[in-house]
Amino acid sequence: MAEVHEACGVVGVAGLPGAARHVARALLALQHRGQESAGVASVDLDGRLHLHKGMGLVHEALAQVSWPEGSLAIGHVRYSTTGATTLENAQPIRFHSRFGELALCHNGNFVNGWTVRAALAREGAVFQTTTDTEVVAHLLARSTAKTLLDALREALAVLYGGYALLLLAQDMVIGVRDPEGIRPLVLGRAGSAFLLMSESCATTGFPAAQALGDVLPGELVVLRPDGVLRQPGFISGRGTGLCAFEWIYFARPDSRFEGETVQLVRRRLGRELWHEAPAAGDLVVGVPDSSLPAAEGYAEAGGLPFVAGLAKNRYVGRTFIEPLPEDREQALRLKLAAIPDVVRGKRVVLVDDSLVRGTTARYLVRELRAAGAREVHLRIASPPYRFPCHYGIDTSNREDLIAAHQGVPELGRALGADSLAFLSPAGARRAIGRPGCMACFTGEYPVPVEEAHGKYETEVPR
Ligand code: AMP
Repeated sequence: MAEVHEACGVVGVAGLPGAARHVARALLALQHRGQESAGVASVDLDGRLHLHKGMGLVHEALAQVSWPEGSLAIGHVRYSTTGATTLENAQPIRFHSRFGELALCHNGNFVNGWTVRAALAREGAVFQTTTDTEVVAHLLARSTAKTLLDALREALAVLYGGYALLLLAQDMVIGVRDPEGIRPLVLGRAGSAFLLMSESCATTGFPAAQALGDVLPGELVVLRPDGVLRQPGFISGRGTGLCAFEWIYFARPDSRFEGETVQLVRRRLGRELWHEAPAAGDLVVGVPDSSLPAAEGYAEAGGLPFVAGLAKNRYVGRTFIEPLPEDREQALRLKLAAIPDVVRGKRVVLVDDSLVRGTTARYLVRELRAAGAREVHLRIASPPYRFPCHYGIDTSNREDLIAAHQGVPELGRALGADSLAFLSPAGARRAIGRPGCMACFTGEYPVPVEEAHGKYETEVPR
């Protein structure tokens, strides 16, 4: 059984009194990026490094912590992309080096992480975790470079993939965004302190904070209590651009990348979808919450009523990660219900932002019919998800990607819909309005992935 994974979230600050407490709060704003574990590493007023982490949601994982005073901290919410779901795999991780005690966390994935790890293990390295974050720590610890930044550059020349990485040292927070710019990293400020965060919505965790803009692909940013240093081109690459799935599904709708609000892109995805695949329906229903802007855009473009035909139970955890299909179905039943008096006798156009395994769509088509819908036309505001992602949204098994194995009409029948249409890759590109990684839709991988195939399912060398 493949596991389909989601990106994680990172945030860091330098120069803000109570940094650890604020970072923990900012993690609440990034909770949608990972619900499996949360952690904060900080430097106290005496220069000592502290690490707090736990399993579960931020408020569970970091409950009861009495935060050390200090002005430097980094934090992480995790939704595993590699490695098992255990506390030892929670981030940040702490390690000793010639450069002092350091803490490290990252969002994303190194496609050659296992290969480098296996090579290090053969040379005698002992690993405490099964994450590829630790590989960076080992490379840093073994480096003979003169400075920490040089050691980091060396390590990131060996590893490649899609990542946003934060490193905490005694007097600074260092951030690097992968040279293709696949995973997001945003610079911000809170008064005189500077921030780094996966998404601009994390500013809501800090007093009087604002986002300043994106860290560039391959750029290094060093935050110190007295200022910020930016070094574009720290790692060289082609700067492919942000993962399309961040726009489509992952990011919070109020977050902004490259000057554009995610919600507005989602609405455009819906509008494009109407132009490419109009449906004869009486009303448009979106799947709460992530697809609502796309459904709204679709309805607007088509002049159809946009109606809340599904009720969502917000207190049930994610259905997507339940390993067994029966469990996922059961969780979906608790999470989403059709509202009979709204959909009865209607031709419903059901808009979802994406279709991965097809579990959600199959379930909702059936539910809507059971609630009395006369017809259900399924419209997906992204292209068929056909290729595994190796850059942090780790669909390790192509078998499970339902659109990889059948044509659209056949798939529509399998899902029980009266009709099915996806947005084309060109339509998605138009709506997103800028270049970026679309490997999961097109199979064009901006970073070589040969090494990744099959490796993720093997036992991790210890
Ligand atoms: P599926 O049910 O497997 O077809 O997945 C598609 C549904 O899950 C859509 O409703 C998406 O909004 C949502 N979704 C897509 N990708 C992910 C992900 N990586 N993690 C959690 N949910 C997702």
